Amino acid sequence: MHRKEFRPTSTPCVAEFPFCPRQRLFGGAPILSDHWSSSCPADMKVLAPVVANVASKSAFVSCVDGISAMCVAGMLLLVGAEPGKKSNSARILNARVMEITKAKIAESKAKGTPLDREFLAAQRPMTLLKAGMPVYNDDRWMFTPILLFALCAYWACDLAATYGAAVTVICFLLNFLAYDLYSGILHLCLDHPENIDVPIMGQPCLEFQWHHHIPEDIVVKGLFEACADLNLVGCLLLSIQYFGVSGMGADKLVLGCAGMKAMIAQFGQYSHRASHTRLADRAPFAKWCQNQGLMITVKDHHKHHTAPHDTEFCLIGVCNPIMNRLIKFMPPYENNKFYLGLFAAWSFLDMVLICRVVRTLAPNAI
Ligand SMILES: [Zn+2]
Ligand SMILES: [Zn+2]
Repeated sequence: MHRKEFRPTSTPCVAEFPFCPRQRLFGGAPILSDHWSSSCPADMKVLAPVVANVASKSAFVSCVDGISAMCVAGMLLLVGAEPGKKSNSARILNARVMEITKAKIAESKAKGTPLDREFLAAQRPMTLLKAGMPVYNDDRWMFTPILLFALCAYWACDLAATYGAAVTVICFLLNFLAYDLYSGILHLCLDHPENIDVPIMGQPCLEFQWHHHIPEDIVVKGLFEACADLNLVGCLLLSIQYFGVSGMGADKLVLGCAGMKAMIAQFGQYSHRASHTRLADRAPFAKWCQNQGLMITVKDHHKHHTAPHDTEFCLIGVCNPIMNRLIKFMPPYENNKFYLGLFAAWSFLDMVLICRVVRTLAPNAI
């Protein structure tokens, strides 16, 4: 059936339905599809009382609702932009792994030196408990980061509507700094060669360590694949926060903070990817963030990519001065158990601590 047969014939939104979702999202301006562009469906009348009720809320709640609408609009744009594409990145990157491993085996035979663990692992198949080939996978669910982002944006907006702007800003700043430091600890643990042999954790370790040999892997992958790398750990940690720490969502402060952390984690992937993207291909937003010190620069991240890879672990980069001091005090490759313990404790307790700090700073945020 031709799409024009669906075209509604009722009166335009602006005249009859001031709260039409199309108008709220796009300010009444025609959107790209001619399917939607002329007027609202007649059955929108059914929704009018519900929408009018929403309109009676305070100006602040309306503003937060606007942010939700923008998040949805942004995600629709992204859906149209990337995740539908099949990058075939795994085939390209795994071929590079084989090529480099072959060269390293020849070099090790010639020099009589032992092979590093990432090259040994690249010669065996991956099992449930042992890291191995394929190092790279591109069969992750690309829609999961979008769903997670939508859910987390909703939780964060709910926090804003419940506790107000001041508490929201405090939560965001604490989460931004805490996540960057957490990304440094996580990265440090994943870069430790011995952790390749740790069951389950070994496979992400292997991929992180191969990133030192193939730094462009995160660009070859594409942004959505890079975000989809967080699918498993993101779902696991958000479940713990939802079902455990927040009491099935009863504590909106915990839930909102957990949502912010997950969204900042996706921003961390964007930041890391931008630090490997050629200047000509880098988005103006990424360049602006790098210039303002809100994302790690190419120059600073290059220091991490220089052997022995023992500085600049944070993926957003604002906490690298703190992280670098901690590393000087506790060298990363000699204190593996300490950093693994810190990573585990941080993963489960960060929201409890952040919310306690927020409630100390803003006692009204009960
Ligand atoms: Zn690294
Ligand atoms: Zn990198």
